[in-house]
Amino acid sequence: MPIPKAHYGGRHTVTLLPGAGIGPELMNYVKEVFSYAGVPVDFEDVDIDPNADDNVDLDFAITSIRRNGVALKGNIETRSTEAEVLSRNVALRNQLDLYVNVLHCVSYPGVNSRHKNIDIVIVRQNTEGEYAMLEHESVKGVVESMKVITSSNSERVARYAFEYAKRNGRKKVTTVHKANIMKLSDGLFLETSKRVAKDYPDIVHNDMIIDNTCMQLVSNPHQFDIVLTTNLYGAIVSNVVCGLLGGAGLLAGKNFGDHYTIFEPGTRNTGTSIAGKNVANPIAMLNAAVDMLRHLGHKNHAALIQNAINKTINQGIHTRDLGGQATSREVVDSIMKHIKIASN
Ligand code: ATP
Repeated sequence: MPIPKAHYGGRHTVTLLPGAGIGPELMNYVKEVFSYAGVPVDFEDVDIDPNADDNVDLDFAITSIRRNGVALKGNIETRSTEAEVLSRNVALRNQLDLYVNVLHCVSYPGVNSRHKNIDIVIVRQNTEGEYAMLEHESVKGVVESMKVITSSNSERVARYAFEYAKRNGRKKVTTVHKANIMKLSDGLFLETSKRVAKDYPDIVHNDMIIDNTCMQLVSNPHQFDIVLTTNLYGAIVSNVVCGLLGGAGLLAGKNFGDHYTIFEPGTRNTGTSIAGKNVANPIAMLNAAVDMLRHLGHKNHAALIQNAINKTINQGIHTRDLGGQATSREVVDSIMKHIKIASN
């Protein structure tokens, strides 16, 4: 279990990485709501310059997370064109060994969507696969990209999925892969999950090819309980399910390792084109902040803010990504109104 580290005088200190695009404005809403609700959390803000050709800011962010144990994060941009400057989002997950991403996708009754009552947990390997970032041009016009799958990481993430199922009364784990084509790499991931499944006889295990999974998710999502998958397929499947439930602005994801945890919006978007316009949906980042409070043990504050979020959504106070007309500000004001009512 990851252990929250920085806890002085009853208050937690958390690293805050606003990132680019809509990240900074969404973080300001989180700070405002936390302060309004009297949440005992202090933030250590770390900005990462997207244009930097070095990793000084990134190293500082990693040091801060190692000290605090926990971070809340927007999407970090890496604009440098230098080939050796790799995606900082990926580097952060790799260096902190955040080997699993968990996205719990539950329908909001107040949001219009094609399917109702969806409840799917996506457990995604978070540090390898196509995200190994090992690419090179072997001869002009021929680029090779290495996909790395290891049995140790496949086993950790499979075990995480089955343990999650056991702890949370879930009935089924579906391993999603493309082992019919990538026989060695995805084959190893699939075989490892089958081996781990044997230790959990009470949990049903099946598997499905990624392309069919996308079709099944759109046509019959209720057949899924826990989806266990590799890094890239996890990114795709997460976006499909978030899209089914209401888009990029609603759900939050968690990145776990053995020591550190990062909370962030589920689909990890930057939202550059909507930044600074008072239209971004603040809910996904606020949900990430609520998950973080639960993780830190601040259950009452988490419940207070969660209820205020749910009431706001179910009352139809929606930003335009959900088909509404409310501004980001109006959504946040409504959440604070519900916090006030519940606190009186
Ligand atoms: P880019 O690097 O171009 O920003 P991306 O993969 O991060 O790409 P975005 O384009 O940022 O993805 O986001 C995908 C879509 O989701 C966009 O239409 C964006 O406006 C929308 N979106 C992302 N986050 C939110 C949000 N919080 N509220 C409303 N819409 C959002």
